[in-house]
Amino acid sequence: MESQRKNMVETQLKNRDISDPLVLKAMGEVPREAFVPKERIGIAYSDGPLPIADGQTISQPYIVALMIQAMEVSPEDHALDVGTGSGYAAAVLSRIVERVYSIERHASLAESAKALFKKLGYDNIEVTVGDGSIGLPEHSPYDAIVVTAGSPDIPEQLIGQLKPFGRLVIPVGSLPVMQKLIRVRKVNGGEPLRENIGDVRFVPLVGIAGWKE
Ligand code: SAM
Repeated sequence: MESQRKNMVETQLKNRDISDPLVLKAMGEVPREAFVPKERIGIAYSDGPLPIADGQTISQPYIVALMIQAMEVSPEDHALDVGTGSGYAAAVLSRIVERVYSIERHASLAESAKALFKKLGYDNIEVTVGDGSIGLPEHSPYDAIVVTAGSPDIPEQLIGQLKPFGRLVIPVGSLPVMQKLIRVRKVNGGEPLRENIGDVRFVPLVGIAGWKE
């Protein structure tokens, strides 16, 4: 599995546009096979998303790396991850930053991810069950926020929970399954800056500031 992981980093990440050494190192460390359902372990390093429980998905390795690279995180940062899912993206992020707060609306997914983090010794991730479309105010402000589900708009609450110069990376689109990956950068005294990073496909962000159930 380790050689498959190394190969994934070389062919799926470095051969594309992933160049942040912290992201490449973290992607080379986290055992993706631990985050996929047992029957899919053999294809854990395939170049695509895979189904997990509750009708949700674990994102394509490249997309996980692209989103974390876009967060521009550094080792002293505190980050919020909205949509824990399998826990894979939170795990990768936790190898780079000081602390990760991860929020998931499905309690069963949150519990499995928590158990996995404990097993792997990833003790700087805190998982909460709830609606992350409105963020997680109790641990804010964050240096960076990543949302790994598609939202109809950019939730104001998330921008409000960023530190000055903080970054929000979020898939946004008017259809529930097709989005543009947007980075919003908070600047001092002015409108936040928006950049379009590319086209993505995520399951919907369901919640107060997302899609209705
Ligand atoms: N980051 C995950 C991983 O590495 O496996 C993949 C996330 S999956 C594509 C999207 C997740 O967002 C699902 O687990 C879904 O239940 C969750 N989700 C959707 N709406 C949410 C909300 N309002 N708050 C928290 N989680 C939400």
